[in-house]
Amino acid sequence: MRTILLLAMLAIAGCGPQNPEFTRFLKENGHQFDLLIRNGEVLNGIDTISVKTDILIRGDEILYIGPVDTSKIKVDKTIHADGKYVTPGFIDTHAHGDPLETPEFANFLAMGVTTICLGQDGDSPETEDLAGWMQRVNDTVPGVNIAMFAGHGTLRQLSGVGYEPDPSPEGLEKMKQLLQQAMDAGCFGMTTGLEYTPGIYARPPEMAELAKVVGANNGLIMSHVRNEDNDQIEASLKELLEQGRYCNVQVSHLKVVYGKGKDRAQEILELLFGGPERPFRVSADIYPYTASYTGIGIVFPQWAKPPNDYEKAARTRRTELLNFLHDKVMSRNGPEATLLGTPPYRGKTLKQVSDELNKPFEQVLLEDIGPGGASAAYFVMDDTLQTTLLADPRIMICSDGSPTMHHPRGYGSFAKIIEEYVLRQHLFSLREAVRKMTALPAETLGLKDRGTLQPGRKADLLIFDPAAIQAKADFAEPHALSRGFDRVIVNGQVALDNGRLADRRSGRVLRQ
Ligand SMILES: [Zn+2]
Repeated sequence: MRTILLLAMLAIAGCGPQNPEFTRFLKENGHQFDLLIRNGEVLNGIDTISVKTDILIRGDEILYIGPVDTSKIKVDKTIHADGKYVTPGFIDTHAHGDPLETPEFANFLAMGVTTICLGQDGDSPETEDLAGWMQRVNDTVPGVNIAMFAGHGTLRQLSGVGYEPDPSPEGLEKMKQLLQQAMDAGCFGMTTGLEYTPGIYARPPEMAELAKVVGANNGLIMSHVRNEDNDQIEASLKELLEQGRYCNVQVSHLKVVYGKGKDRAQEILELLFGGPERPFRVSADIYPYTASYTGIGIVFPQWAKPPNDYEKAARTRRTELLNFLHDKVMSRNGPEATLLGTPPYRGKTLKQVSDELNKPFEQVLLEDIGPGGASAAYFVMDDTLQTTLLADPRIMICSDGSPTMHHPRGYGSFAKIIEEYVLRQHLFSLREAVRKMTALPAETLGLKDRGTLQPGRKADLLIFDPAAIQAKADFAEPHALSRGFDRVIVNGQVALDNGRLADRRSGRVLRQ
């Protein structure tokens, strides 16, 4: 009888709040904590099921996950998360923005993003002292954490290689040295923008040399590949996989411009992830919109872009240029599929502007806009193809957005994943969506202390009801903040509280 009673008491102690594990934890960690998140449905980024439990945080660190006996602790702040999910903060592997200009980054916080990767598409701050720049950003205290990359195009400019197809030995040496310096400063790797100048001039030997530096530092090359068009994408991906002999490589914002269908998506996935076992990792991210956004230069031929003289090209090769622009835009679904995002034509399609000015769209491009004269959204992707890529368990999510860009992806991407692809289309489960936006990118980047909820990890986390998540931004109103993330916590501090930005920011520059 006494044994049964004892067993019954042990059983109660084992599953109730007064469990020995918690007692031991208090013994080792004291009784004073900063934040208790109570009774949330915890999706930790790794496990396949969620657990209704508590989380204790001190400073910027998660100390304990499990049932907490509140009579045994002192805590500054308690958040009741009953009926809500608690997940790691989302990691945006391809983002834009200047943290010295817009350090708040409310657009990212409002869609649950607590870490962004900057220095994208070959373009990072143009300074030899990237370490100093990172320190200045850290001192500014950004709203989200920032993982930096050195831009390949910027390395070319800083080293004097510029638009040279084949760097001199000294030029290449200088690029490698600047890249090593960036890695030493804590960058996570290098980005390339091979569809843009000056990256477009780079050839395989140069890329291999730089990839070796990235690999030797356990870094990652993230690439805006050379050409995303349906008939060029394979060659472009193979070029990146070639660099993947020396380091981890990632395809940024994976897309197939004017490709169509599920089978085409499968071919691309097979090319990327099929193939024989390789020493380095291949990864990719995608944003959940079928319109891209970039400078209008993307529809102009290289011979009419820097370092070539546009005025001269427009004058001496006018007919050729008009034909090129016409064919290029038509191959990208025509002028009604090009939505201008910068003044003076912001919010109008190229078709509308052409009607207003009463001249063919190619003439508008040549005479009124020019290769550097606008940025635009381009409706060039097939929904079935892109959704097939999005659903693949190896593909991560990015926004490719910024606080200022005239495209809804900078404000809506991560909310849209939950609202549209988890709840409406059932493309994947909430747990899988969370994994693609947290643990998977953390592992890919080599971020060991973020991306999952575990004791000892940094306290970047979200509290929300998935059914309340709304991506409010669209092409008419691209700067509408997402809604539904009740609490967004960055480094243990509440950064967004029911839609209100905290007075004090708490992000930092992360170092590899
Ligand atoms: Zn890009």
